[in-house]
Amino acid sequence: MATASSSCELDTAQAEIGPIETDGRLWRPRRVLITPDALSLPYGRAMLDRAASHGAEVIRLPNNRLTGFKAESESKSYALAKTTFAIVVSPPGQRKLQPIPPSADWQFHIAQGCPAHCQYCYLAGSLSGPPVTRAYANLPEILEGLRSYAGAGQVTSRSEFRAHEGTTFEASCYTDPLGIEHLTGALAESIRFFGQWDDAVQLRWTTKFAAVSPLLALEHRGHTRVRFSINAASVTRDFEGGTASIAQRLGALRRMALAGYPIGLTIAPIMPVENWQSQYTELLTAVAKAVEGVAALDLTVELITHRFTPGSKEVLIGWYPKTSLDLREEARTQKRTKFGGFKFVYPKDSMGEMRSFFEQTIATLLPTARILYWA
Ligand code: SF4
Repeated sequence: MATASSSCELDTAQAEIGPIETDGRLWRPRRVLITPDALSLPYGRAMLDRAASHGAEVIRLPNNRLTGFKAESESKSYALAKTTFAIVVSPPGQRKLQPIPPSADWQFHIAQGCPAHCQYCYLAGSLSGPPVTRAYANLPEILEGLRSYAGAGQVTSRSEFRAHEGTTFEASCYTDPLGIEHLTGALAESIRFFGQWDDAVQLRWTTKFAAVSPLLALEHRGHTRVRFSINAASVTRDFEGGTASIAQRLGALRRMALAGYPIGLTIAPIMPVENWQSQYTELLTAVAKAVEGVAALDLTVELITHRFTPGSKEVLIGWYPKTSLDLREEARTQKRTKFGGFKFVYPKDSMGEMRSFFEQTIATLLPTARILYWA
């Protein structure tokens, strides 16, 4: 995994030599668990072979429950879960798709959990239990189950600005799918599936990793939009453990664009850190350099500010007790969520200032990019 200092060194080098064309370091779990139901499926067995080939200890579970992640301290439980890769069958509830505004018409799940260590991780607010990375052995069934949702979208399909994308399906709500692709092969399967699908449909996923080599030659037919999640240098350095460096992510963005994929930026979570204007200007300048000379560039931008809930704050402080992430409620404004709770967002003035900055800077540095939304 990239350490904060190695990431910093790469970023410094990148300023001189441009995006780095490498897949970055791959996650190697210490152990792989597989349930009996997952082991009975060919796709589950294929993932087990892949994980074993990366050196993981293989444990065949006696039943379909994942247990045994309690250790004497919260930090040890966290470390145990984060070094484990589990192969399971997806819960039936997850195969009934839900909308995911404003990103996509539908969210679907090929895995749950992530091997990285971002101290603001959005999964802290959406998933419960130990942060084990689980991949789903019934992937063919999950993909076939998407067919009946084509043409039934209510989010991007209803937007005048985005209806031309077709029915959109987001695969990275509960995971970073590229971070585990070397163990799952699930993105390659999904990209092929969408490439062969003759309806107006789009697969969408976002990532902080860079191992795109196995995806470059796939027959995607423009039906997959990959977005790279990027941030100011100090945010990446201070809060994004175990991810690819920004230079590697931008190198991967360029390689995917040259392979004909529609691409995107997820700039998130935006934070008004020290010198934020100059840091984000440098970032967008590096993006402009990364996409230089790409023919028929199709680039979108999604802008998401940092937010947290009382629940996600509690989980994150349990995982990262020494974090310097700004989680002061008194510096935020409360906003109601669609589930009847509330979240803490930046105050209106600060939001307005950041939004104008991004809209203007993107228009200047990336004039053909389309901003999809600000949140
Ligand atoms: Fe969480 Fe995304 Fe970071 Fe993974 S890469 S730890 S999912 S924020």
